[in-house]
Amino acid sequence: MHSFKKGVKNMVGFAQMGGQPIFILPEGTLRSSGKDAQSRNIAAAKAVAESIRTTLGPKGMDKMLVDTIGDVTITNDGATILREMEIEHPAAKMLVEVAKTQEDEVGDGTTTAVVLAGELLKKAESLIEQDIHPSVILRGYRDARKKSLEVLGGLSEDISITDEDTLKKIAMTAMTGKSGETARDNLAAIAVAAVKMVAEGGNGRPAINRDDIKIEKKQGGSMDDSELIKGIVIDKEVVHANMPKRVKEAKIALLDCALEVKETENNAEIRITSPDQLQAFLDQESKMLKEMVRKAVASGCNVVFCQKGIDDLAQHYLAKEKILAARRVKKSDMEVLAKATGANVVSNVDELRSEDLGRAGLVEEQKIAGEEMIFVRDCKDPKAVSILIRGGTEHVVDEAKRAMDDAVLGLAAAIEDGKIVPGGGAVEIELARRLREYAETVGGREQLAINAFAEAVEIIPRTLAESTGKDPIDILVNLRTQHEKDNKSYGVDVINGSVADMKRLGVVEPLRIKTQAIKSAGEAAELILRIDDVITAKSGGGPGGGMPKMPGGDMGDMGDME
Ligand code: ADP
Ligand code: MG
Repeated sequence: MHSFKKGVKNMVGFAQMGGQPIFILPEGTLRSSGKDAQSRNIAAAKAVAESIRTTLGPKGMDKMLVDTIGDVTITNDGATILREMEIEHPAAKMLVEVAKTQEDEVGDGTTTAVVLAGELLKKAESLIEQDIHPSVILRGYRDARKKSLEVLGGLSEDISITDEDTLKKIAMTAMTGKSGETARDNLAAIAVAAVKMVAEGGNGRPAINRDDIKIEKKQGGSMDDSELIKGIVIDKEVVHANMPKRVKEAKIALLDCALEVKETENNAEIRITSPDQLQAFLDQESKMLKEMVRKAVASGCNVVFCQKGIDDLAQHYLAKEKILAARRVKKSDMEVLAKATGANVVSNVDELRSEDLGRAGLVEEQKIAGEEMIFVRDCKDPKAVSILIRGGTEHVVDEAKRAMDDAVLGLAAAIEDGKIVPGGGAVEIELARRLREYAETVGGREQLAINAFAEAVEIIPRTLAESTGKDPIDILVNLRTQHEKDNKSYGVDVINGSVADMKRLGVVEPLRIKTQAIKSAGEAAELILRIDDVITAKSGGGPGGGMPKMPGGDMGDMGDME
């Protein structure tokens, strides 16, 4: 830390001893320390945050990303943008991590978290410029982060899984900016119904396993054609032309073994010397396949989903028995099929019993946008379901799927924790106010850091206010006034460019979005602030550089590679 005030630039690591420099790092190593290192890291992180800031909120803009092979992604989703940007700077990457953590832990609020992290760093930078030591800032930020979690908890309200109205509002809020207004209503209803179906443990705190809601997308039709399947849809076709394409009152067998005669092991050769022998061999094989199918039929099934292959002959026998079958079904699909239909996955046809079969009101193959898919519908009390997202163009379906992901995961977070907060920057304005009050009780230089944290939190309402196109300062002043009057749920009415009661507007979000954003943004900012020295090894290494000689390698060639 001693070099902190010196701002040494690009100094290759060496120490001075009696005028004689001693090199401790290989030549070519890049090093920046102290304020210089800090300001570079902060600049990089700020650049990341700035790049996605304008996408925040219902009036947020979209980004069009073109990758190296010309594929285009159009999105408003923070995590997606950062993933596609292939960021390289190490400090900037930490902000990408913030988005990733937010996505993993909550699923929604990625832009919020990254923008907050960027703003925390920006505010820290101006404190550093005022000669406040980073350790003081770090302490202040850590305290502010802890205090924020406590305050947020206090500002949250309870929500129950039975409160469908509020659940739908959460879904609508999560999808804002990512889908057309009219379709949003339909999609939100689908998300709520799906989450309610798979929620487990109704009495205590319900838990929702994300994998139990399978979100499929297929381009074609319109977003309004999106549907919730009370069961599972799989991207497979019925394996044989003579099989039924529609089975009512389906009794479903799930097999994770092949319906094939096992290849002879150890590459044993079978020597066939006469046509009779060949016939006998084929007959034997056909008998074994017939026997397998007979066992399946004996269980009483009329639908078979097989994780492995189904021999042509076995397909033929199954078709004769009017059984609908699909092969090479993905393992993850087998798992959700089991949950949806109540079937057990069986690894040996010999062991297939009628108790292992799952039920569905209807199994049918349908052509969706020119491709066959198998729908397992009308399951009774399914513990896994599918959502099929439709939309006119590839970009529309992709974005609708991301909107659905956010809605489903947001709902899961809200239901699991049973806590929600008003959105539209309402909770952030209130949090900032409380942090300022708290800062006064702390005093000293740390107070400045806590105040900086409070200001940083206000980046969310400020950005939403900016997105309205009206004067953001007016809106913020207005908001603060409302909050001083104890109107805690007042936030930015983005659509009308004014302030309004977010609860009345139905803009509510799971508490977890906010707590997780504070946690990961705060931690990332602290991590970056703690760095006062960046030492970068030179890649490739020049002569005498850090690269070890390769045994037998011809170093002379290395120059050509660069
Ligand atoms: P994130 O990736 O952080 O979820 P979004 O683009 O989804 O970013 O924007 C989320 C922000 O937009 C939240 O602060 C949320 O409260 C706010 N928001 C969503 N819908 C509305 C609305 N109808 N009016 C005002 N603010 C809204
Ligand atoms: Mg969102």
